[in-house]
Amino acid sequence: MTLLEVRDLHVTYPGGVAAVRGVDLSLAAGRKVGVAGESGSGKSTLALALLRLLPPGTRVSGEILLNGEDVLTMRWGRVRAVRWAGASIVFQGAMHSLNPVHRVGDQIAEPVLLHQGATAARARLRTGELLEQAGLPAALASAYPHELSGGQRQRVMIAMALACDPRLIIADEPTTALDVMIQAQILGLIQHLVTDQEVGLVMISHDLAILADTCDRLVIMYAGRVIEEGPAREVHENALHPYGKALSASFPHIGDPASRFAPRGLAGDPPDPADLPAGCAFQPRCGEALDVCAREDQFLREAGQGRRAACVHVPVPAEGSGAGRAAS
Ligand code: ADP
Ligand code: MG
Repeated sequence: MTLLEVRDLHVTYPGGVAAVRGVDLSLAAGRKVGVAGESGSGKSTLALALLRLLPPGTRVSGEILLNGEDVLTMRWGRVRAVRWAGASIVFQGAMHSLNPVHRVGDQIAEPVLLHQGATAARARLRTGELLEQAGLPAALASAYPHELSGGQRQRVMIAMALACDPRLIIADEPTTALDVMIQAQILGLIQHLVTDQEVGLVMISHDLAILADTCDRLVIMYAGRVIEEGPAREVHENALHPYGKALSASFPHIGDPASRFAPRGLAGDPPDPADLPAGCAFQPRCGEALDVCAREDQFLREAGQGRRAACVHVPVPAEGSGAGRAAS
């Protein structure tokens, strides 16, 4: 059974902001999917929806199947259980997520005590193990958050996320606030844990190059929609959608020195989700738009080799070329 299966997810914030508009996503255990897109494209909204962490009054429709069980229709007691044991989320900016007046060890031990009913001694042992798994000395348990560096705090967050052995980890810009060197270490750690423990990873970033390096598949979001998806390297190196191409060109390609000297930014801003343009939401910024793009909305179409893109220019693959059998 697929670990995570999102079907036709729509999220509208109070006031009519349509932040997610019909997203499908599929992830098997032990696999890593990257979600990319500019700020405001709906990535964090998608992450929050997966664990029902959206503010009250937000309208959500569709299905979010975690091991076949729909998160959207679960009772609250079940949602709370799933948040600890089923799926965990690692957010950007660990300083805000850690309580400054409690020792980090106590914060890691809390879910172990509460949700696994462990004794204090057992929870202390487990906390040491988790810190070590996250690449920190067990002795750091007695430290307060302000005594740690940014990278160490993010590692503590990862230790907390692992506390109850989740099957799915959602990482929302987990390294954005960190130095490049520390970024690489944290990403390496997350990757290692995913491979080692057969968990699924949804990794969110605005940085396509990082995701291409870390993930198996890549999903690109624009204005609340998935506009392209496919195997991570192919999408990064040879995007099909004009927005995917622009996003990919704005980050250096590993092993291609020329790409570093030709950053091609994208003019204009993403649309306001409360006031979307007619037709394709990307059309006002698109260098390849046709007349039809301003009139007709574009939806994902099969592009062969497990790839899909929402653009009129994507050629419909010939019969029998593998379209419709997207790999996961
Ligand atoms: P991303 O993570 O890709 O930057 P978000 O999911 O944070 O995007 O935001 C998507 C859109 O939803 C943005 O236009 C944002 O302003 C809007 N939004 C986010 N949170 C709320 C909220 N609580 N209420 C209303 N609109 C929101
Ligand atoms: Mg975000």
